[in-house]
Amino acid sequence: MTNKTIAPHPQVRETLLVEWQSILEILAEFMEVPVALIMSLTKDEFTVFAKNESSLNPFNVGDTDRCHNSGLYCERVINTNQRLFVNNALESDEWCNNPDIEFNLVNYLGFPLHWPNGDIFGTLCVLDTKAHQYTDKQERLMVQFRNMIEVNLELLEKNLKLENLSKNLEYLANTDELTDIWNRRAFIAESEKELQRAVRNEHPVCLLMLDIDDFKQINDQFGHEVGDEVLKLFCHGIMAIKRSYDIFGRIGGEEFAILLPETKQTEAVELAERIREKVANIFFHTQQQKVGITVSIGVCQLTPLDTVLSGLNKADKILYTAKRAGKNQVQNQLSD
Ligand code: GH3
Ligand code: MG
Ligand code: MG
Repeated sequence: MTNKTIAPHPQVRETLLVEWQSILEILAEFMEVPVALIMSLTKDEFTVFAKNESSLNPFNVGDTDRCHNSGLYCERVINTNQRLFVNNALESDEWCNNPDIEFNLVNYLGFPLHWPNGDIFGTLCVLDTKAHQYTDKQERLMVQFRNMIEVNLELLEKNLKLENLSKNLEYLANTDELTDIWNRRAFIAESEKELQRAVRNEHPVCLLMLDIDDFKQINDQFGHEVGDEVLKLFCHGIMAIKRSYDIFGRIGGEEFAILLPETKQTEAVELAERIREKVANIFFHTQQQKVGITVSIGVCQLTPLDTVLSGLNKADKILYTAKRAGKNQVQNQLSD
């Protein structure tokens, strides 16, 4: 095997596959051979990645073979990282027993294909059932195709990097750094989509507004860093109890909201009560003591005329009722 590390094999896009297939059709025609293949290498396994569509081609896309003492022409190309030409395997002690003799493929010309960093992607090869010398022109064409495929791989890699980069950016733009949940902007955007869907389908949606009780005291008493840890614990606790489709975001400071799709007011109150209980059972440990926290929650059902912002306003007012009534409780109505 080559001593270069083998690159992971990311999914190559359908379009690339179609393009490569058409390269192989032209190649087979121009080289006057029944078989043209692009083989890819993953760890120590070869896969037929693309092939020309001839009925004389015995291979299928997806066929695999071990690339370790396989005796295959392609394994030699990979091991030497060089072009290989075998005019007639039956006339060569070295090649007369290779596995492709089974298909009578006695003639081979292949090149290694590389990722931009030099790692092996696989091979580009043609095979024939009879001895076959290729003209300079034919070989030059094959080298051109090899180069084209390598340019494709370079673009693919760049695209994958761009995709990853934009996913990371999106994550950073949407996520609250401390707690790893949706930030205010993303919460509103995600919830707005859900709200519109609910209005279209005439399904109920509720909103919870949550505010940790006396959080300032925690900061004052134990320091801001402990306060930060408490915020994380609080979010962990809620992530564990909320349903997967509930949308949970940090609205600011120690204020959070949860949009509950497909949920009527009575169910929302039950869920809020479970959250309140769960939070009342969250404890953090300081050097001297074990300290608990509580949360107050305002619940409201959104109407078709609401936006997420108007819903947050309503829920916030109801939350204030819970605070005034003594905290550590769930409210779903404004007090008089
Ligand atoms: P109430 O029960 O009425 O909600 O009282 P409270 O003390 O929780 O509310 P108040 O609005 O008076 O204080 C909120 C505190 O939250 C003040 C602010 O310093 C703190 N805070 C806001 N964001 C963060 C943060 O990211 N980390 C930490 N540690 N504290 C924060
Ligand atoms: Mg607050
Ligand atoms: Mg508070």
